[in-house]
Amino acid sequence: KPKNRLSKQAYIDGILRGDRVILSRAITVIESNLDSDKVLAKEIVQQILPNSGNSIRIGITGVPGVGKSTFIEAFGLYLVKEGHKVAILSIDPSSQRSKGSILGDKTRMEELANLQEAYIRPSASGDTLGGVANKTGETMLLCEAAGYDVILIETVGVGQSETAVHGMTDFFLLLMLAGAGDELQGIKKGIMEMADMLVINKADGDNITKSKIAKRQYQNALHIFPLAESGWSPVVRTASAIKNIGISKVWEEILKYKAHVDANGYFIKNRNHQQIKWMYNNINEELKQLFYNSKDIKNELSRLEKDVIAAEISPVKAAQQIIEQFKKSF
Ligand code: GDP
Repeated sequence: KPKNRLSKQAYIDGILRGDRVILSRAITVIESNLDSDKVLAKEIVQQILPNSGNSIRIGITGVPGVGKSTFIEAFGLYLVKEGHKVAILSIDPSSQRSKGSILGDKTRMEELANLQEAYIRPSASGDTLGGVANKTGETMLLCEAAGYDVILIETVGVGQSETAVHGMTDFFLLLMLAGAGDELQGIKKGIMEMADMLVINKADGDNITKSKIAKRQYQNALHIFPLAESGWSPVVRTASAIKNIGISKVWEEILKYKAHVDANGYFIKNRNHQQIKWMYNNINEELKQLFYNSKDIKNELSRLEKDVIAAEISPVKAAQQIIEQFKKSF
């Protein structure tokens, strides 16, 4: 057990009174891969659970360079001015490999980072997206228990991380650029479909006209999608993060969305669904590990691989056979 760990109660008390130093140290426990920390982390999360959930969780994505950091800084400063406490988290499964996540670059949100009402935490590292998502999800709960009522979760816009962020947020915001072309922006249809709002950033200077045209184009494009289960039609707005234009409008739309999904019951329904899904994701992951980490299974699998290649057993039958063997081991 690491020496600098506090007692479980010290973490819980610190978090509940909004002590940022203790919050940070508790998140370190959550991010740790030590077995003793894993036990402690689960206990902390369990204890603060009744004090979590009281926030609006906003996912933000867009390709690198679209202006996510700049936007989040402007948006965060606006929210703090409005009396909110804002936590900024990120999911970046690549952060470990690249050593030093771009999302973790606090200097890009310097003004916001200096405020007591804002808490910025770079992406947790981990081998699997599921593991990183777990850590970010639990960190979010801790931040809520510490009194942060707006949670912004940023993702780099690559791979499956948007889906993970969408799966743990109430509102999904997609930042885009005018005239860059969908392909250039790496925006897949699936991500457009997840968005509750599109913000065309950098609508300033020579870009204003282009941005207005893009806004209309995206508005039309979004009409093609079937209405989401939330019953909310995604909105498109232009903004300039750098010139601080259109930032308050984004918050206005989020509040409209919140009122809409509170009224029709989708807010709670979606959160419940996310909790259940989170549990099953963990069960699936644990089961897979239980299976593939078993020595007997490993040996049998390498034998079966050869038999499948030699066409001595069909892939389907081989899979069934090894599952049967696994079942017998209980
Ligand atoms: P990220 O990679 O998505 O986090 O993007 P950044 O926030 O780092 O921004 C990338 C570049 O775009 C930086 O040089 C920013 O100064 C610039 N930028 C961000 N927002 C705006 C904006 O609203 N207007 C203009 N003109 N430039 C912007």
